[in-house]
Amino acid sequence: MVGGRGGPRAVILTVGDELLLGDRADTNARWIAAFLGEVGFAVEGVLTVGDDAPRIAEALDWAVDRVHDGVVIMTGGLGPTTDDVSRESVAEWLGVALREEPSIRTGLEVHFRARGFAGLPRTNLRLTFVPEGAEILPNPSGTAPGLVLSLPATHEAASRSGLLFMLPGVPAEMEAIMRQEVAPRLDARFGERPVRPAFRILRTSGIPESALAEQLEPIVLGTPGLLVQYRPSWEGVELRVSTSEGEQALDRFMVEADPVLAPWCYGGQGSTLQAVVIDRLRALGWTLAVAESCTGGLLGARLTEVSGSSDVFLGGVVSYANAVKISVLGVPSPLLAAHGAVSEPVARQMAEGVVKVAEASVGISITGIAGPAGGSHHRPVGTVCFGLVSPATGTLSEQVRFPGGRDEIRHRAVQHALRLVDQAAAKGLRDEGSRSV
Ligand code: ATP
Ligand code: MG
Repeated sequence: MVGGRGGPRAVILTVGDELLLGDRADTNARWIAAFLGEVGFAVEGVLTVGDDAPRIAEALDWAVDRVHDGVVIMTGGLGPTTDDVSRESVAEWLGVALREEPSIRTGLEVHFRARGFAGLPRTNLRLTFVPEGAEILPNPSGTAPGLVLSLPATHEAASRSGLLFMLPGVPAEMEAIMRQEVAPRLDARFGERPVRPAFRILRTSGIPESALAEQLEPIVLGTPGLLVQYRPSWEGVELRVSTSEGEQALDRFMVEADPVLAPWCYGGQGSTLQAVVIDRLRALGWTLAVAESCTGGLLGARLTEVSGSSDVFLGGVVSYANAVKISVLGVPSPLLAAHGAVSEPVARQMAEGVVKVAEASVGISITGIAGPAGGSHHRPVGTVCFGLVSPATGTLSEQVRFPGGRDEIRHRAVQHALRLVDQAAAKGLRDEGSRSV
């Protein structure tokens, strides 16, 4: 169930052969769905068809049946080339002719002259033809303007008709026209709309979806109107908690669920574990260095995603080969010979080594078998060892076994390393807190 149920209805129709071939992800549908939900529409469906008039007509039949006097938002196929047929298809479906719109031609001439063309390329003349009755929605960054038309009246909506918006497929152009032209028209036409049900996004890491659901279930069942959706990924499980009972009901849930969530939840919508880690380390005045083997720099990359993190994250050593573990990190070669590169003693030495090299307060190391080759009965693919050095914990190590293929194992290992640093920082902050009391 989606937010805004009970609001005016909407259907999203994305057009383009490339979407059906799998060449391009339909990011427009996702963006428009989020936008419509935010402004109080109930999205009833998303349809995708190729650049093909009969299919577009079928989709529009379905859409108008669903939305009645609501809104259909269509993207794609408005371009100048003959493979873009949306304008012609809609005119045919509505039973109207295409008419020439002089203002589009003037706009195009300005556009092309500004880019150094002497005249308007002939193919672009197609852009100046629009279905009879269409209003033009200026495109601030491209050539094809958007269009808005009245949907034919249906039996259920005999007195007033819905709106059909036609927007270009280029995501940036579609988004600009949605914000600048579509949104005010939706307000004017649909007036007051129900507010979207209150919701919260909670991001967790380190606990499987099923374990989290099991622990939250008693609280969820005891809270009428509450809906929790679980969205697992390699980075952890994201929860979307929503309720029809308003903000206060959400606040109550947050209090009741805190004992379950606190060990795993690192933030809300848009927060990342690396940003939380950097913030915590900065609050402690600690610096961080990393020693990576099987993740080859992925951990460093994550930490440098946080803009301005260089006061905390000093750098790292990618010590993929044993020679570099020995020469740069100072891992004793007898230790490597005795335990193997993927072992807790080596992971500890790597973390201690990088702390020394970088003169950091915290060091974290990753050494593992990401596969598909290199596994053994004793250490199967997915085995990863971590070493951690921090003022709060001293030197620690851990061995974990991750599921999945090479990509998944590497990304899970990075997330786990971030969690280890986060836990050390959280302990540091607690220790500091209890000292100052
Ligand atoms: P233009 O007039 O700029 O050519 P258009 O309406 O003709 O716009 P298309 O030619 O269908 O749009 O697509 C333009 C670009 O936008 C292509 O790169 C296409 O892959 C991309 N695109 C189209 N539809 C979508 C979509 N639903 N999601 C993401 N990208 C899309
Ligand atoms: Mg197209």
